[in-house]
Amino acid sequence: MSVQFTILGSGSSGNCAYVETAEARILVDAGFSPLQIRKRLATIGRTPENLSGILITHEHSDHIAGLLGLADKFQIPVFCNRDTQEATVWALKTKWLSKKSSPPEGSDSTEHLKAKINWQLFTTGAGFEIGDVSIETFSIPHDAQDPVGFLLRTARGNIGFATDLGYTTKLVLDRIRAANVLVLESNHDVKMLQDCPRRAWSLKQRILGRHGHLSNVAAAETAAQIMSAGLRHLYLAHLSRECNKPELAQHIMAEQLHHIGATHVRLQLAAQDVPCETLEL
Ligand SMILES: [Zn+2]
Ligand SMILES: [Zn+2]
Repeated sequence: MSVQFTILGSGSSGNCAYVETAEARILVDAGFSPLQIRKRLATIGRTPENLSGILITHEHSDHIAGLLGLADKFQIPVFCNRDTQEATVWALKTKWLSKKSSPPEGSDSTEHLKAKINWQLFTTGAGFEIGDVSIETFSIPHDAQDPVGFLLRTARGNIGFATDLGYTTKLVLDRIRAANVLVLESNHDVKMLQDCPRRAWSLKQRILGRHGHLSNVAAAETAAQIMSAGLRHLYLAHLSRECNKPELAQHIMAEQLHHIGATHVRLQLAAQDVPCETLEL
């Protein structure tokens, strides 16, 4: 059976991707509302009910916004490390406390929130399996408690995820080098970010910092460092709406691929509002 891969959406307003193999149906991050995730899964004829697991990279809302209402309702196992679990529970609780509307039952208490979800905790750096998929985890530099990237090893190829990182460490490069399909952050154009009038200086510093986000140029440099004959599909992801342009991100990476002779790589952009076309491996 083929392996199917669909980025349901990516950007600072939400991130979620879907991987399906013979024995597993996995979401990587759940950064849209439960309804929105349901709608986007429906575009590929899938529903959240029979997911085998949700992998969480880190606790920022654009990666966990739909966790409550999805994972608890259908008792879908949630895979993350302990610090991310703690921070996620805190973030979900704070979100409901800050709203005037009454929260779903139990979501106002840390212990209730912990008990509602079927957490499957891993140690960063350790691997685990969901059905026929082997998952490797690796630390990434980002301003969250213990953020990770993933490499999903399937019978038809390896799918790597490296978004939300200030720079690519040697460890990150080593891990994503094995990818046949790579989702790589290309967050901003440095000049557009520096010139952006709607962003405070402190926020710009955060994004540009070593625990922020990868720029278009940094993504292109990363591609050159990890290029292999095995990399077939490269998705640029987590593009900033205000401080990037899809055609600019595409152009910089396409130039790089041309420059290093990586003509075998199919380059695509992940969008915020619509799912990417499903990739069959
Ligand atoms: Zn993010
Ligand atoms: Zn983040």
